Amino acid sequence: MVEQRLRGVVVALQANYLEVELDPPDAATRLLCTRRTRLNHRGAAVHVGDRVWVEAIDQQQRRAVVADVEPRFSWLSRPPVANVTAVVVAFSVEQPTFDPDQASRFLLTAEQTGLVVQVLLTKCDLLQEKASRQLADRLQGWGYAPLLLSSETGEGMESLRTLLKGQALSVLCGPSGVGKSSLLNSLLPQLSLRVGAVSGRLQRGRHTTRHVELHALAPGARVADTPGFNRPELPDDIHNLEVLFPELRSQLETHPCRFRDCLHRDEPGCGVSRDWERYGIYRRSVEELMGFSRPSRGG
Ligand code: GDP
Ligand code: ZN
Repeated sequence: MVEQRLRGVVVALQANYLEVELDPPDAATRLLCTRRTRLNHRGAAVHVGDRVWVEAIDQQQRRAVVADVEPRFSWLSRPPVANVTAVVVAFSVEQPTFDPDQASRFLLTAEQTGLVVQVLLTKCDLLQEKASRQLADRLQGWGYAPLLLSSETGEGMESLRTLLKGQALSVLCGPSGVGKSSLLNSLLPQLSLRVGAVSGRLQRGRHTTRHVELHALAPGARVADTPGFNRPELPDDIHNLEVLFPELRSQLETHPCRFRDCLHRDEPGCGVSRDWERYGIYRRSVEELMGFSRPSRGG
């Protein structure tokens, strides 16, 4: 007898088990899987988003064994998700107030994937329309085209749905309290993620226990919500920073700097403009990374 082998996607991890959702036509089936010991020995960690082949399928008990993992075409390290196609970063216009430094850390992390980065501005019901538009224009200057949203009034929700439906796997990230769970709850009413207070003990408790999980939005379109964290680390390659700021990246595309390893700070002859809003943030990031890397160079 030929053993049945089916393909699917890892949608959640729990302790030693992987939850796998099979590809169509069996898409409704979620299997609780262990992995072949051979896979463990190879040291190949299997993560949410991985495309896998399962065997030893027990349809009654909804159990199976993951036998193989396909190569990944993208990798997001924090949170760990494989095969992401778009990174969606949410910031609230109020409660908490937009913080350009924190926002930049999230955006730099997102840009490191090399994937499409979509910015959301949430809680637009809390700010005058004109002020929300101004914030959107500001982000436009950073190289993004933010979507204005409110889970309260429903503003922008259809556009968000359309956007996410066009992506095989999007990850929703952003500071805690900006309304990510509320957005997912309104897109997926059957989900009922716990909506937290803006701050407080409950919030922290929730985030330490939550793991990444993929939710099906439409056939072939999944979205991952991410456990909250508020201050992502800066990327560690100082020479790569320039491409992680879209507004600097586009400037360098049209007017490349003539020095190869230039950090575009005070290097004599560097022609890169400093006349852009986040130049200060870029510069501070470079300086912070220089500070960090000094001890490890060992003199
Ligand atoms: P998360 O930590 O990013 O998942 O944020 P939550 O979805 O848990 O929301 C944090 C708080 O913001 C909760 O008190 C929500 O009720 C509130 N909230 C979420 N979305 C909106 C919105 O669109 N407008 C307003 N006014 N409050 C919101
Ligand atoms: Zn330069």
